[in-house]
Amino acid sequence: MATVLIIGAGGVGRVVAHKCVQNAHVFDRIVLASRTITRCAEIQKELPSGAIEIAKVDADVVSEIVKLIREVEADIVINVALPYQDLTIMDACVKTKVHYLDTANYEHPDLAKFEYKEQWARDNAFKNAGIMGLLGSGFDPGATNVFCAYAQKHYFDEIHTIDILDCNAGDHGYAFATNFNPEINLREVSANGRYWENGEWIETKPLEIHMPWEYPEVGIKESYLIYHEEMESLVKHIKGLKRMRFFMTFGQSYIMHMTALQNVGMLGIEPVEHNGCKIIPIEFLKTLLPDPASLGPRTKGKTNIGILAEGIKDGQPRKIYIYQVSDHEACYAEVKSQAVSYTTGVPAVIGAKLMVEGKWMQAGVWNMEQFDPDPFMDELNTQGLPWKVIEL
Ligand code: NDP
Repeated sequence: MATVLIIGAGGVGRVVAHKCVQNAHVFDRIVLASRTITRCAEIQKELPSGAIEIAKVDADVVSEIVKLIREVEADIVINVALPYQDLTIMDACVKTKVHYLDTANYEHPDLAKFEYKEQWARDNAFKNAGIMGLLGSGFDPGATNVFCAYAQKHYFDEIHTIDILDCNAGDHGYAFATNFNPEINLREVSANGRYWENGEWIETKPLEIHMPWEYPEVGIKESYLIYHEEMESLVKHIKGLKRMRFFMTFGQSYIMHMTALQNVGMLGIEPVEHNGCKIIPIEFLKTLLPDPASLGPRTKGKTNIGILAEGIKDGQPRKIYIYQVSDHEACYAEVKSQAVSYTTGVPAVIGAKLMVEGKWMQAGVWNMEQFDPDPFMDELNTQGLPWKVIEL
């Protein structure tokens, strides 16, 4: 039994809170904290009375997080605020000797670049404090890393190529909206693409490389190569890998709007002067766009996220696709969030559950593929994210 402190009450925080309540036999005390306490209160109202407690915290301030962790006597912190808060929350966990988990790697607010460097650099501090930090326990990163470890363990002697394929075929009825935090989403998609081949990173122009891919239960969707954070750890940990790429589907309307917004400077992260005020264009755009948490009741359709792996087993070539399909409306019916938040929040709770049960527990800072994939894959099947493997 453990006390869990969830930080962040957005789309993903809502799913994590609901799923922790469903796993109350593991998490006997659940505290949801965020910058805006009214958002915590909205989520609290959706749950049975007394199921969760709520608190206010500014997770940019280490001392505030430390104070809250001590007050609630947390055993583990699930960080589902924004990537900007990763380091402050990790440092608070080191100070209080409490386990840590997140779903996205650190990003500096003033620099459109994300990497594990500064989180990995805390490995010794975590080891010295005798605590574990699990990085990237969402869907991608997260379940996709575990799919790679599962393929490596059960299907291949050597994996030569992996393509991670992320399809959201959901329709929310808006001309343009993002399925998770707009700032994080648009910074990721509008950046140059990058993939890894023969030990080197190869850079592409934004959305320059694309291909059609037939997603089971969804159909053929044009899929665009972008850089995605899980590749940084996977290229280190998967044996014999020669190439790794990441593709995501986007509709024509999304690409058209994003390109136009980028062309006029609305995706900028530098402040601009407007009528005597300093405005950061992408932050202003976030104010105008639909709140991702509000997309839940309107979104119809499915997601299909998987890994296509090719390599050798017993001297023979082999090619498999491991994937998971979620339905936006079914997710909303269960936890009042659409599938993108659902597929992120469920793996976060599974990661935390395996940690507190001691199945995945080792001091230091770790990526998902470094642990035995089997217990995580079993949990996906029972916690709402059943998966399949097909031989191609
Ligand atoms: P939202 O923007 O919906 O929610 C973020 C929440 O964090 C809000 O409640 C926000 O508070 C809170 N927050 C922001 N800054 C602070 C702060 N300084 N102190 C305390 N709370 C703060 O984002 P999502 O729920 O969509 O995403 C959450 C995380 O999940 C992000 O890191 C995102 O990158 C990650 N993610 C990972 C995926 C994966 O598959 N691995 C996929 C999708 C998302 P406020 O209400 O005041 O703004």
